[in-house]
Amino acid sequence: MRLLLHICCGPCATASVGFWRGRGAELLGFFYNPNIQPLAEHQRRLCGVRDLAEIVGIEVIEDAAHGLEEWFQVESGPGTSRCAHCIRVRLERAAAETIASGCEAFSTTLSISPWQDHDAIKAEGERAAAAFGVSFVYEDLRRLYPETCRLSREWGLYRQKYCGCSLSEWQQVLARKPKVSACS
Ligand code: SF4
Repeated sequence: MRLLLHICCGPCATASVGFWRGRGAELLGFFYNPNIQPLAEHQRRLCGVRDLAEIVGIEVIEDAAHGLEEWFQVESGPGTSRCAHCIRVRLERAAAETIASGCEAFSTTLSISPWQDHDAIKAEGERAAAAFGVSFVYEDLRRLYPETCRLSREWGLYRQKYCGCSLSEWQQVLARKPKVSACS
């Protein structure tokens, strides 16, 4: 099977590539993550994916679109699930690229992360697949997450500290910030 693998970052691709190759898939990588803020972080992750591609020998199509204004609107919008929207945008683009590249199906490295919403990955992947007339292959790869940490350290890949959008960065900052007592 010729499988388009949407790649969110180098670390998540490490064990994902091994898994799909073990299943006999012929892989074509695809980087499209306009949610990653700020632009410098987007560039660091793209470079990390290029490093990964060289190490594992995978061709990766790059769509380096970076949606600053759109993502500020998504993040500040009331009552919306920003993560479902975030996953939807990326998987819809992956479905379109699956057709354009002549692949039979697509999947995503997001499914190796224990921090992602897997119900949303399944739902949005299937929705995008139906809309574009291709197949989405979901596999719960969370058991391989420790392997992604090991391999990315061993291969010297860039490892990010937050999911991607500005809010996820801010949440990470708050989680690490030492408690400061108020001045009196
Ligand atoms: S937390 Fe992650 S999945 Fe959710 S909107 Fe932000 S970048 Fe996207």
